[in-house]
Amino acid sequence: MSDFSGDAVSTDLEALQLHLRSILASVPDGMIVIDEKGKILAFSAAAEKLFNYKEEDVIGADVSLLMGGHDEVNHQNYIDSYLETGKRHIIGVGRVVSAKRSDGALFPIDLKIGEAKVGDRYLFTAFVRDLSEQRRNELRMQEMQAELVHFSRMSAVGTMASALAHELNQPLTAVANYLEAARDLLESDSENAREILHEALDEASRQAVRAGEIVRKLRGYVSRGEIDARSVPLKPLLIDSIALARISGDVGDIPIDKEISPDLGGVLVDPIQVQQVVINLLRNAAEALIGVSAPRMRVSAIPGPDAFVTVEVCDNGPGMSEEVRKTLFKPFMTSKSQGMGLGLSICQTIIEAHGGKIEALASAEGGTCFRFTLRRDTASASS
Ligand code: ADP
Repeated sequence: MSDFSGDAVSTDLEALQLHLRSILASVPDGMIVIDEKGKILAFSAAAEKLFNYKEEDVIGADVSLLMGGHDEVNHQNYIDSYLETGKRHIIGVGRVVSAKRSDGALFPIDLKIGEAKVGDRYLFTAFVRDLSEQRRNELRMQEMQAELVHFSRMSAVGTMASALAHELNQPLTAVANYLEAARDLLESDSENAREILHEALDEASRQAVRAGEIVRKLRGYVSRGEIDARSVPLKPLLIDSIALARISGDVGDIPIDKEISPDLGGVLVDPIQVQQVVINLLRNAAEALIGVSAPRMRVSAIPGPDAFVTVEVCDNGPGMSEEVRKTLFKPFMTSKSQGMGLGLSICQTIIEAHGGKIEALASAEGGTCFRFTLRRDTASASS
């Protein structure tokens, strides 16, 4: 009986209020209780900190006081519409909205709303979590990502530029050599000077076109990430590459043995790119042969394995240490004071883009062999 006495009821109510107060004081999120008219009934200690209001300043005030953006105006419509239709938009779901501090500053919050029906009245409890810090971190992350993207784009551009400089060096040196020879020929009164002059200028213009071709191919290669392969007879491609390396002065007069199997047929390649590889390997070999007493190089090509052709560019130079071998194909690895260390990494990129493989081995001649494979055009006749 005593439970129903007036005293007991008021004690229970007091206990309840005390309980509510302790919740409001300790709940870690901002907690705001409003009635169906949007009037603030309770305001937790964390909410005081968050919104920079004292509880007594906001009790009885309209909750739109704490809202930013269009929620400030529409809040009551949301409640009314919910009470009318029973359709929940935010209740029980949670959403990120903009809140307003006492000084008018807006900040992002994660808002969750629970409802309670007391008799025929509704109470809504909002739980508010400040997202400013999280947003700041997200923003910082975005900035860092943007910086990273920018940096990697810049370094890709840098690598591309160095690669171009490296590859263009050969045809441009050849152009310079031909033009120098042409200039000297102008002074010569030998009979066939005019004919040779004609040839030198022809060759210079061919090399200039080739330089343009390299730029175009490299650019296309980077932008599309694919190659323009077609069936090309391998033997002439290798012979041309050797001739080009000679002309540009890359290999001096070092003898080059050619062991090119007669039944190779065609390979599926972009000839300009594969020429780049062979010339690069010949130039590296020649550089390794500086100071070697009887320098020799060998370019060989044999069919196989399977649907591939194997090409080797070898020298009888000093070979390479295990250490160099391990990092050989990495960009910017060089043992030369003037080297850029890009040649082999470009070679690898090209060969792999063609579906082949490239590796360095100790050569039978006592130096180094670079061996790479190219896909055979199995449909083509032997040449
Ligand atoms: P770079 O020629 O600019 O140094 P590369 O990528 O062409 O760059 O070569 C990287 C390194 O590999 C060279 O610096 C050299 O030490 C080594 N190397 C390449 N080819 C040979 C070779 N035939 N014999 C010995 N060492 C070689």
